[in-house]
Amino acid sequence: MTVTPERTTGPVPGAPARDLPLLLLGAGSDPASERGVDCPGELPPASDPDLVERARAAKAALGDRVFVLGHHYQRDEVIQFADVTGDSFKLAQQAAARPEAPYIVFCGVHFMAESADILTAGHQQVVLPDLAAGCSMADMATFDQVEECWEVLEDAGIADDVVPVTYMNSSADIKAFVGRHGGVVCTSSNAKRALDWAYSRGKKVLFLPDQHLGRNTAVLEMGFSLDDCVVYSPHRPEGGLSQRQLRDAKMILWKGHCSVHGRFTKESVDDVRARVPGVNVLVHPECRHEVVTNADLVGSTEFIIRTLEAAPSGSSWAIGTELNLVKRLANAHPDKNVMFLDKAVCFCSTMNRIDLPHLVWSLESLARGEVANVIRVDEETAHYARVALDQMLALP
Ligand code: SF4
Repeated sequence: MTVTPERTTGPVPGAPARDLPLLLLGAGSDPASERGVDCPGELPPASDPDLVERARAAKAALGDRVFVLGHHYQRDEVIQFADVTGDSFKLAQQAAARPEAPYIVFCGVHFMAESADILTAGHQQVVLPDLAAGCSMADMATFDQVEECWEVLEDAGIADDVVPVTYMNSSADIKAFVGRHGGVVCTSSNAKRALDWAYSRGKKVLFLPDQHLGRNTAVLEMGFSLDDCVVYSPHRPEGGLSQRQLRDAKMILWKGHCSVHGRFTKESVDDVRARVPGVNVLVHPECRHEVVTNADLVGSTEFIIRTLEAAPSGSSWAIGTELNLVKRLANAHPDKNVMFLDKAVCFCSTMNRIDLPHLVWSLESLARGEVANVIRVDEETAHYARVALDQMLALP
């Protein structure tokens, strides 16, 4: 396994306080989380005026031996070097589509690089330019916490009725847990199909780790009521739920969220509607339920991109997703009025850890024959994670 099992996401009520070290960007190490790890080697200074030229030269020297994948939320300075751009699912598929490239440089976050390693051939190495590029949502469900949750479900006598479903945005060991227990991985585009499949096999679903995607899909697409859903908190005894609540629920949501999409509020929607007459509000399903229910359209990153492409000239759009993508969409559609949904800026801080100095360092290291920051998932974890990923690919 490439991640340390004892990661934590914050203080646990009632548990002894644990000091989390304060880490400088790109330096220091916290083995209990993905928040910060040492980056070996000398990073070029961000002030180096030749960084673009250096990245270009190193990539040209590597030729077909390197394949650079860039997530939609990456910085402009990085995304310009991507051979393919996409969301986490599309990038995982694309990584597997280039078996002749021995090096995959993944400009995204840790769980995506893990999925790429699981889906690529054994001779390929997946490199994450900054190992500190984790995901706060993925960190909100650790293997030990999920195992403990399963024991709570067993004690309540319902584990046999539960099919676990995990969002793509989870660590490899959580995907493997789901694979071992007959579940499936889902993305924001196929969450309803994954839930349809899961409910054809069991009476209840444990949805990991994003409560908002789970709730929005269950209520808005499956016809469930909010009362059909309960939230399991890994930081409270028995998840903070009684056995009766667990037995009555159809959907058991893990208490996790995206720190970027979770920031948007109903007030953000009301405010932009008051400021911009006729504005269309388009949000990602990782947003809170009250944001999604007050928006005009909801959909995955790829859906957001397609919707903007098809929108008529002169139309106005307030977008509730990561700011790097919204800025690029605004630049790509100067004939449309494209704006960020909230007044406060909101980048994904971990996605932003991949900057041009880290990319140059990765590419130049590879060109010298030095392979650093390889993401490798151990064989057993990869096997069971692939079971859950393959089940997703086989969804009707
Ligand atoms: S945008 Fe949210 S889900 Fe995506 S990597 Fe950042 S914290 Fe994780």
